[in-house]
Amino acid sequence: MASDPERLNPDEFQLIERYFARGCEDPRVVLGIGDDAAVVDAIGAMAIATDTLVSGVHFPDGLEGDSVGHRALAVNLSDLAAMGAEPRWCTLALTLPGVDHRWLEAFARGFFALAETHGVDLVGGDTTRGPLTVTVHLIGDVDREHMLTRGGGHAGDDVYVTGSLGDGAAGLALVAQAQAGTSAAHEALRTRFLKPTPRVEAGLALRTLASSAIDVSDGLLADVGHLCRASGCAAAIDLERLPISAEARALFPPATVEAWALSGGDDYELCFTAPPAHREAIRQSLSGSGTAARRIGRLTAGDGVQCRRRGKPVSPPSGAGYSHFGDGLGDPKAPRRGAAQRAGRDSE
Ligand code: ADP
Ligand code: MG
Repeated sequence: MASDPERLNPDEFQLIERYFARGCEDPRVVLGIGDDAAVVDAIGAMAIATDTLVSGVHFPDGLEGDSVGHRALAVNLSDLAAMGAEPRWCTLALTLPGVDHRWLEAFARGFFALAETHGVDLVGGDTTRGPLTVTVHLIGDVDREHMLTRGGGHAGDDVYVTGSLGDGAAGLALVAQAQAGTSAAHEALRTRFLKPTPRVEAGLALRTLASSAIDVSDGLLADVGHLCRASGCAAAIDLERLPISAEARALFPPATVEAWALSGGDDYELCFTAPPAHREAIRQSLSGSGTAARRIGRLTAGDGVQCRRRGKPVSPPSGAGYSHFGDGLGDPKAPRRGAAQRAGRDSE
């Protein structure tokens, strides 16, 4: 092991022991951390998601450990929420440039606080040396008769979004600013980026009511576009109905906030569709799960996503969400719009 240059150092096992080996709550975990593989007693259909966060791409270099730990799990919880799945177990592949105990302690704190909130057990992982990269693999129970997918929408369905949009990008702009504003609005927006809230409860509440769902990670227009393609229809989004938080309105110009709401990314809200007959049931069911949702448009026949202002078609702000490889076939000169790329600008 010592001859493997990718190994962190001979204390790797102490690191795992110190920060990550905790007892598992779930009796379905047969073997957790410590053997060559974890063993779980899976019953029925499972939803499985993996997301990787790379420092300097998905979050700014130097971001505090508790935020990186929280976000690494949150982005995966958000994917399971969009499936109407109940998260259970995860693994954590951690690549670290070195051993910084203060950072690791904060990372574990952020990670396990969110894991406990959602009853998720960490059952295994991998620890290596290299540029800071965090991969979480999350598994959850899903009812195959009532799972949510991107592909179930029909023309005539309402389009909804939970919470508010644009706060993730607004929070990132504030995190990237040298001077930290101290108002309650500054704090709230920074938290929206540093500690996003995955809508797991809402996803579960929507299983029998929504026709399709996707989580908003790359920006509303891009993600509604994915939903439309999978559902074989088009969408019309009413810009005046976009849920924009009072905090974002208070700190940024309306045009900036609207652009962030449409294509900023990092919001981790759920966008979902449902037949109009379900409006009242959705309102009741979501209020039971403590999540607000707003109707923002309709699915229609055709393809593509159209924006409207007071019923009239308008062109959306340029850019339609984040793509690691641009719009074409991996053109390295294509514009990149990830969190870290945005961090240096968009802060007007
Ligand atoms: P192996 O060399 O057999 O893959 P490892 O040294 O990678 O074993 O890991 C030893 C044990 O610790 C395994 O059970 C693995 O799942 C677990 N583990 C390694 N890194 C982490 C981590 N970052 N978080 C949780 N468990 C981990
Ligand atoms: Mg290993």
